[in-house]
Amino acid sequence: MLKRILIRIILIVPMLIFLAAMNIFASESIDRWIELETQYTIIRYESIEILEQFHKTIHYGSGWWATTSSFAILSEEKNRKIATLKIDSIFERVQEILDMRKKIQKIVVHVYSDRKSLEAAFVKVYKQDCPFKAWYEYKTNTVSLNVKDMNEGMLAHELAHGIIDHFFKVRPPKDTAEILAIYVDRHLN
Ligand SMILES: [Zn+2]
Repeated sequence: MLKRILIRIILIVPMLIFLAAMNIFASESIDRWIELETQYTIIRYESIEILEQFHKTIHYGSGWWATTSSFAILSEEKNRKIATLKIDSIFERVQEILDMRKKIQKIVVHVYSDRKSLEAAFVKVYKQDCPFKAWYEYKTNTVSLNVKDMNEGMLAHELAHGIIDHFFKVRPPKDTAEILAIYVDRHLN
């Protein structure tokens, strides 16, 4: 009997250690993300490939950086430069559409690699299933989105929430903010 219990302990303990390690890994992984600070935002991403996918899904602007082919092989520096120029020009366009040009704290943008990791991030914070493709959280001034399912309109919409929520002394009602954010993504171009 004692032998059987001991065998069970020997089998279970490493499994528990493994699960605990996985949990620590999962909760710490976002802390090890790479940061790119632009004029108006701080983009956080897992790898340079994710950042490349991120800026290549943003079809916006008219500079050299806006016309880079999706097949082009780019250096890390160039990927960071293009991502910076694209997100900052979208940010300025959103301010222009809303006519809300007040200087605000930089908006953090979390770029998840897929739907699964985006959903996991939502569940962790809100303790419920994720009904959104992307969202903005006022408390942390953070936009979260998934690189495999995003576009420039969606990014503009979420940045608009950050700009709207910080423009007035009192945050506007949720529905009003939503109407304005929808207006922004429909009038981006
Ligand atoms: Zn919205």
